[in-house]
Amino acid sequence: MKTPLQILDAFKARFGTTASICRAPGRVNLIGEHTDYNDGFVLPAAIEFYCWAAAAPRRDGKLAIHSDNFNETIEVSLDSLSPLANKHWANYPLGVAWALRRAGKPISGANVYVSGEVPLGAGLSSSAAVEVSVALALLNDRGNSVDRAELAQLCQKAENEFVGARVGIMDQFVSCYGRASHALLLDCRSLKHEFVELPANLQLVICNTMVRHELASGEYNARRAECEEGVRILRIVLPGIRALRDVTLPQLEDHRQNLSAKVFARCRHVITENARVKSAVEAFRKGDTAALGPLLQDSHRSLRDDYEVSCRELDLMVEIAAAQPGTIGARMTGGGFGGCTINLVETTAVSDFRRKVAAAYSSKIGLTPEIYVSPASEGARHIVLEENKPAR
Ligand code: ADP
Ligand code: MG
Repeated sequence: MKTPLQILDAFKARFGTTASICRAPGRVNLIGEHTDYNDGFVLPAAIEFYCWAAAAPRRDGKLAIHSDNFNETIEVSLDSLSPLANKHWANYPLGVAWALRRAGKPISGANVYVSGEVPLGAGLSSSAAVEVSVALALLNDRGNSVDRAELAQLCQKAENEFVGARVGIMDQFVSCYGRASHALLLDCRSLKHEFVELPANLQLVICNTMVRHELASGEYNARRAECEEGVRILRIVLPGIRALRDVTLPQLEDHRQNLSAKVFARCRHVITENARVKSAVEAFRKGDTAALGPLLQDSHRSLRDDYEVSCRELDLMVEIAAAQPGTIGARMTGGGFGGCTINLVETTAVSDFRRKVAAAYSSKIGLTPEIYVSPASEGARHIVLEENKPAR
């Protein structure tokens, strides 16, 4: 892991000039899983794991991007941007350049050095972190004045249309808008958002199962299609609806016979999960932390049984965590089939939690989990480095 000053040094060694530097955080979703692409509600927090992007303009219309994580540089012409084969990492930053140009944003050729500390592919959104940091770097937006909602949408467009992953808006949005000590309640339809202060006596503890099952992206697209099928069928009897967000649980139950058992279960997850997000926000606002445990537990069960995106490792990690003293709530977070769990843990219990969860998980699964503790962080920004003073 490099510090920002080391990244600037590495930039200079590689590209021969000074650079400006931006960072964008990864995120953890507290509750509201698989709801974003159903026009629903989510409650993520940005975390203090960042992707850093150092950049300097160049005059020949070319874009050179180096990733520290992959130890590879690619160089292309801005005028002929097209996706590289085999899910190449560079499609994320190239997609951002493509989306910015299509939106008429004034970007020139540039050298870009990317260095990410968000674990890749673990469900903590290293993808949004790399997109948003590169977007800010390419825009050279020292005043941090670019409209954040538009920036998030352009990064989402890059991932949807250039990378080819049909992700919702949550990750890019919270990477742009995060606020220290707060989670962000986002209405993924209107993009209206509110900040929800997190209790000072609780920590966000993230447990990485260290597995990622191959079926994740195929199953993700299948879930989207099943939700769309639910909406298509329900719309025949409920003509006003646009997305599952518009359907109530009694309505779904009334029309159960029109849906296959599988599509019914998928819809039930989304509808009940949206309700859980609202209940969780209310609990945070009232300081009623006792109410959070059952909500996180129900969210996990619903993802496991109705949405079928959990796996043995996630279930086990949640089960172990829930049994620890000081655990307020635990559930899988992110798309599923591996990746991480989110745990709300009393600060005084965190060090025991880490030790015991790691030991119990590795004795059953044979893998040592990584456990991260992070405060909720602020969103993406340009960083001004003062001499002899680290940026964080
Ligand atoms: P997640 O967003 O949960 O980490 P994704 O599969 O959505 O998982 O995104 C991970 C991908 O994003 C990586 O495989 C890589 O292609 C790209 N990526 C993320 N961070 C970086 C980085 N620092 N440098 C290059 N590519 C990155
Ligand atoms: Mg991602």
